[in-house]
Amino acid sequence: MARKKLIAGNWKMNGLLADGVELAKGVAAEVKAMGKPECEFLVCPPFTLLTSVKKALRGAKVALGAQDAHFNTKGAHTGDISPEMLKDVGCQYVILGHSERRADHGESNELINKKAVAAHQAGLKTVICIGETLEERDSGKTIDVCSKQIMGSVPDDSTAADTVIAYEPVWAIGTGKTPTANDVEEVHAAVRKVLAKKLGKGNANKMRILYGGSVKPGNAKEFLSLPDVDGALIGGASLKVADFMAIAKNSGC
Ligand code: PEP
Repeated sequence: MARKKLIAGNWKMNGLLADGVELAKGVAAEVKAMGKPECEFLVCPPFTLLTSVKKALRGAKVALGAQDAHFNTKGAHTGDISPEMLKDVGCQYVILGHSERRADHGESNELINKKAVAAHQAGLKTVICIGETLEERDSGKTIDVCSKQIMGSVPDDSTAADTVIAYEPVWAIGTGKTPTANDVEEVHAAVRKVLAKKLGKGNANKMRILYGGSVKPGNAKEFLSLPDVDGALIGGASLKVADFMAIAKNSGC
């Protein structure tokens, strides 16, 4: 089953207007120069940059995404942003349940599920993040933790067309540490099995499962050539045009 690889940049809380626009323009120019890339590209800047980055990406096949959304369409939720608002400024995707939001904001699987339902209703695609802590890994609970996160945070009616899963071991995010390629493939294959149980084999076989956690130009090929790895969610290395694009090129895009 051919799944088009997704190369996604999570800029996190980085970028003032000038840097963000420059970064987006750089990515746009490189993707345009690739002609017809084999992969799909996505950048997820902070909320404040969405509109300017959208303009900077004009004419390039690079999708725009946000890093979170509320589950309501509007109302008394100071500081929050609704999926409709994201759609309105040109987002196609939203990342949900990143481990930093699970940790910093206490986001539960139930909450992430509600957000995903709302995002899908608004016409956004979701990148739903899962992954174990080091303690969970060391006690042999990786697959169990990831399975519970999938069962709890992915809506029951999700499809391969509206949902992407990102497996990101918490201990590998921003640390320079990574699991072995064998470990990554083992988890991705297990995740696909859980998706098959939850959403049916058809959806599971078509759904993209990204790897995230210290992906760099030097290790991209190793991870992205694994059979169940369908792209990458990239934090630090997505902040440099050269690194982000080298990851894509080294992954066969
Ligand atoms: C991330 O934030 O999703 C991530 C994987 O970060 P990094 O690539 O910096 O480890």
